[in-house]
Amino acid sequence: MEAKEKLIKLIKNTEVFCPKPAGKKDILIASDKIAMISDSINLNIDSEIIDGRSKIAVPGFIDNHVHIIGGGGEGGYVNRTPEIKLTDLTNAGVTTVIGCLGTDGYSRSMKELLAKAYALEAEGISTFVYTGNYRVPLLTVTKNIPEDLILIKKIIGAGEVAISDHRSSQPTFDELKRLIADTRIGGILSGKAGVVNFHIGDSDQRLDILNRIVAETELPITQMLPTHIGRSPELISAAMDFAKRGGMVDLTTSVGKELEKGKTVQTDKVFKYFLANGVPPENISFSSDGQGSLPVFDKDGKFLYLGIGKVKSLFDQFRKSVTDESIELETALKPVTLNPARYLKLEGKGSISEAMDADLLLLDKNDLSLDTVIAKGKIMIREEEVLVKGRFENR
Ligand code: ZN
Repeated sequence: MEAKEKLIKLIKNTEVFCPKPAGKKDILIASDKIAMISDSINLNIDSEIIDGRSKIAVPGFIDNHVHIIGGGGEGGYVNRTPEIKLTDLTNAGVTTVIGCLGTDGYSRSMKELLAKAYALEAEGISTFVYTGNYRVPLLTVTKNIPEDLILIKKIIGAGEVAISDHRSSQPTFDELKRLIADTRIGGILSGKAGVVNFHIGDSDQRLDILNRIVAETELPITQMLPTHIGRSPELISAAMDFAKRGGMVDLTTSVGKELEKGKTVQTDKVFKYFLANGVPPENISFSSDGQGSLPVFDKDGKFLYLGIGKVKSLFDQFRKSVTDESIELETALKPVTLNPARYLKLEGKGSISEAMDADLLLLDKNDLSLDTVIAKGKIMIREEEVLVKGRFENR
């Protein structure tokens, strides 16, 4: 039997980034919440003391686009990617994940996606899902998108819906308009964000249809979240324009070295470019596309094999934004904490403050490596040692 974890935890003398820098503080965790943040907290009760010296505390990361039951399948059954393990997420500092389906909504289903989200939640992290997959009209759990949002707590939006891609269902303007409107209404009636996550492919249409929806309807630009926008310089430029007009844009961090040979630009570099060109840092998020399939090419562009998206890339790109691109820590944290929490209305998530969920990370002050992960008040990783594994990991 493992020893019962203490419900009261106290992190002493740690440099807090909320993401806003708050200086050296003590953080009191009571059960699954942050109970108090103060210069000095001393307790006379039985509690777990965590030494925060030489570390910085940041909010637990939010990964807003992960194929938690696997994805792929393009090119045949053998290319179906496996489902995610708890530690794939926690080893990347991810304490909140949004699961989604991709190309395959036929042999994979929303029921399976929801069941996996419940399983990960039971293993200790926070989970949500998008309803649907690439195809329009969406494959929903109930009769339609609004009912999915209103009746199923974990469903916070729709996606990933493919546009500007040869694998999309070639949705028309009217179909997309209705889809966004339905998702928004479901959100309004359930108090959720009701955002549609759009997979943007590599066709020349890029964000054209989304721009047309903004221009020709009353639907707010913030109801759509285009992702994979680092795919090409042309798409990066279209996304920059979209973000400057108030749109939220999402950068995919699972870009293998092999893809640099193509047109894809690494997330830290696009992030830096956006900031230098006046895109508000509040309008940018990162997601890993974890467990999605990634074609790997040789240096001449010849297809070699299918790789798999890694959630760890989310943490790596955050870190590189600071270490390689000299972006301030507070700014570099926003795309993986505050921004997705706000875009997707994730209550209690995305920042370190009193009464928020106790989702936090301790990073080494010098090299920003991941030291400790706390999810809903439970220590998942302590001083680089994994304490909590998924039910069937190593069994
Ligand atoms: Zn995608």
